[in-house]
Formats: sequence, C-alpha cells, structure tokens
Amino acid sequence: MSKTDVVRYLRCPYAFWLVDSGQLSSAKLLSPFEEQLAQDGVSFERGIFAAAPPIAMPPGGEAELFSEDHTLLDVRTFRSPRLRLIGRPDGLVTASGSLQPIEIKSHRLLKHSDCIELAFYWLLLSDIRTYGAAGPMGWVFLRAEDGSFTRQPAALTPPVLAETEALIKAVRDARRYGVEPVICRCTVCRGIRRTVLALCSFLTFIR
Ligand SMILES: [Zn+2]
Repeated sequence: MSKTDVVRYLRCPYAFWLVDSGQLSSAKLLSPFEEQLAQDGVSFERGIFAAAPPIAMPPGGEAELFSEDHTLLDVRTFRSPRLRLIGRPDGLVTASGSLQPIEIKSHRLLKHSDCIELAFYWLLLSDIRTYGAAGPMGWVFLRAEDGSFTRQPAALTPPVLAETEALIKAVRDARRYGVEPVICRCTVCRGIRRTVLALCSFLTFIR
C-alpha cells in the first residue's frame, strides 16, 4: 500500500474504492482546478529539488549516509515488507539515523493531511531507523510569500500515528469488502450526484 492510497482514501473512501477497483479512471479524481493545483505543486517541488546541493555518497554507502546528519531530497523508494507499505518521501532529514521524512507542499500552512502523510512515511521507515531519540517527527517545506520555501518541523503525535494506522487498516478493509457511497462533496461524488439527479428528472419527464 502506498501513501497515495491512504491520501485518496482520506479524501473520499468511495471515490478511492471506485478507482482502486478499476471502476473509475484516476484521471476523474480531480477537477480541472484541482489538477492545476497539483501541477503547480509538482513544479514547486522540482524547483526545490533542482536547487538542492548534491551530497556525495560516503564509502560506507547508504547505511553510513543515513547515520550522519543530512537533509536529503529526491530520495529512493522504500519498502517495508513487514508492514506491507511502499513509498517515496520527498526527502529525509537523516538526524543520526532518525530518518525524519520530508514532504514538500506548495501551500502556505501546515494541513492535517500533511501530518498523516509524514506519519505514513515514519511508519514505512521504521524498519531501517537506527536512532529515534527525538521521537516521531517529520518536516514540511511550505511555500513562502516570496515563492521560496520555509522549513517547518511537524511532531507526529500518538493520535496522528494512530489515525494513520487506522487509515491503513481501513484501506485494506475497503479492498476486501468494498465501500458504500457516502454523502460527500468531492469531485467524484458531486459528479455522480449530478448524473443521478439528471437520470431521475429524465425518468420523470418520460413518464
Ligand atoms: Zn466523495
């Protein structure tokens, strides 16, 4: 399971399930405006990646690199076979082996969903973490007024970690048992409601 699955489920369980079970194209998840916002986010992230100074791999390889103190951006994909999770954070603050995940966001203020994403990566990295004295935490790089970014720590509290674990379980349950439609204002559910209303008025009309 990836972070994208968890974020999609958090946004709307029903729309997640329609896409996940192949009944709806993932292209339908976002409105044109939301798609534009997502594209802006990708360009913002690419700009930060491009400006980051390169960091040389030490002789001891990744294990040594991770045990030092670096801010690494554009990192590889990680897997936890034990937790059955896969994902690629935008970066890592290695912090002597703490492996604190970084998410780059093109909005200005920290959102709850940002913390859920960081908590997902915190769990994903738990098998290779060698030091965790600072406690669960991550970092968000948020868009600043002048178009650059600010770097903010995000504490991953026990309630945030518990909510993330519950979401991971909910995604697994959704795949097993399906999801009932709920009252929801997301792009997919609004579109479905319009179709249902149009069908009802058409049926009334032909009667
Ligand atoms: Zn919805």
